[in-house]
Amino acid sequence: MHSLRWRIATWYTLLLLCVIGLVSIVLFFQLRTILFDQARARIDQIGRDIASIVSRSGPLVAIGEAFPVDEQLALPGNLEHWSSPTTYVEIDNAQGYPIGKSQNMGGVSFARRPSDQRFGVTYSVEKNALGDIYVRDERVKVGGATPIIVKVGERLDVFNETLRRTRDLLLFVFLFAVAAVIAASIFLSSSAIRPIGELTEAIGEIGSDQLNRRLAWTDRTDEVGRLAATFDAMLARLEEAFARERQFISDASHELKTPLTIINANAQMLERWGDRDPHVRTDSLRAIVEESAALARMVNGLLTLAKAESGERIPLEPVRLSEVLSEAVRSSASRAAEKSLVLRLSGDLHPGPCVLGNANLLRQLFSNLIENGIKFTERGEVEVNLAATADEAVVHVSDTGVGIEEESLARIFDRFYRTDRSRSRAVEGTGLGLAIVRSIARVHEGTVQATRRAGGGTAFQVTLPRIATRAASASEAPPEQAFISRQ
Ligand code: ADP
Repeated sequence: MHSLRWRIATWYTLLLLCVIGLVSIVLFFQLRTILFDQARARIDQIGRDIASIVSRSGPLVAIGEAFPVDEQLALPGNLEHWSSPTTYVEIDNAQGYPIGKSQNMGGVSFARRPSDQRFGVTYSVEKNALGDIYVRDERVKVGGATPIIVKVGERLDVFNETLRRTRDLLLFVFLFAVAAVIAASIFLSSSAIRPIGELTEAIGEIGSDQLNRRLAWTDRTDEVGRLAATFDAMLARLEEAFARERQFISDASHELKTPLTIINANAQMLERWGDRDPHVRTDSLRAIVEESAALARMVNGLLTLAKAESGERIPLEPVRLSEVLSEAVRSSASRAAEKSLVLRLSGDLHPGPCVLGNANLLRQLFSNLIENGIKFTERGEVEVNLAATADEAVVHVSDTGVGIEEESLARIFDRFYRTDRSRSRAVEGTGLGLAIVRSIARVHEGTVQATRRAGGGTAFQVTLPRIATRAASASEAPPEQAFISRQ
């Protein structure tokens, strides 16, 4: 009963019934007014006619006879000129007692009313032995003599009968409309909702293991067709996301398997030969230490990625980029020195632009880029440059290292992707560093891109939205919450 179909049908029905009901009531009262107006026009006409004859004549001027006009009016038969089967005329004296009546009134008289004492016209509906009568009273002066009261009445039976019939007809039409509207509403709402039911059924048939299926309701161009198309597009996105997750699990298992296999093999070597051969012991222990450290790095990287992509809220606060970059450069300085590389920080540093972010995540982002620069550079320098435009902070991390082939540039931000060059050279790494960089940039509503440098080497550009410097310096500025979006 609470289904959409019933709700639509009920609302349709109620709405239409209200409209039909209102129209009927307005029609009924309009007709009543017209009929009343007609009756009033008729008795007005007769009343005015008599009044004008009475007031035009002097006290002794008669209507063809030498009697005062009031006496003439009172004579039986004189009022027949104005009466009809539905119209009655009565002349009363100044005290309100009848002095003459049309013959169709027989022994019946109109009621005496207080208005009889006043001049002017009054209207009333009275019920007497003749029936329901609409009566017009007018007190008229007869020359200088005492006034008389002219009463003209119109039967309302015909009028009431017409109204009754109209009311019955309207009631019948209304009841018929109720039935028709209920049926039409149910039919209309059912046919409007049916495709949704079919769509629900079709969607229900698609199981979680059938993400490659599509509804393909391409012949429908209405709302339901659009809903089906949206559902198909969502299925496509889901399929893609599931495939990505499957790929990720297989990549992660593969990457975790290698160090685990090495650790396992070395542990067996230790078990068998460790006591007898000190070289085996030293080598195996070193391999175990190195591989377990690589494992730990990878798990840490995965945890950071999972956190950045989980969609949970992390607190954001104004961060001055020059400070974050200085810390990242300082912590990598010793590694650069080991390889005799120049590690430089330049640009808009005093005080430099601020962003709304998480300082730890931003430090990790730039550390990853700087560490990569040092890792893939044998000679020359790694430069970190900070620049600011009106609403963006731009950081370049460029090196004079091995560079990245054009075809790899698009893939280096994928999880576990490592170029052949870095694999074959057995450079330490997890393939997660740049994926983490991209996730952290996205958390900060920023972007990151890599380019090949003309003279060799790679340049990474990170762009982050700036905030006003005043907010950054004000320590009381409330930390804001940002939503970490999924990839
Ligand atoms: P890794 O742990 O292997 O460094 P990253 O995700 O940080 O993983 O990098 C992915 C790959 O991109 C690296 O294996 C390397 O092939 C390439 N790469 C990243 N940074 C640089 C760079 N500065 N110079 C050359 N190649 C790079």
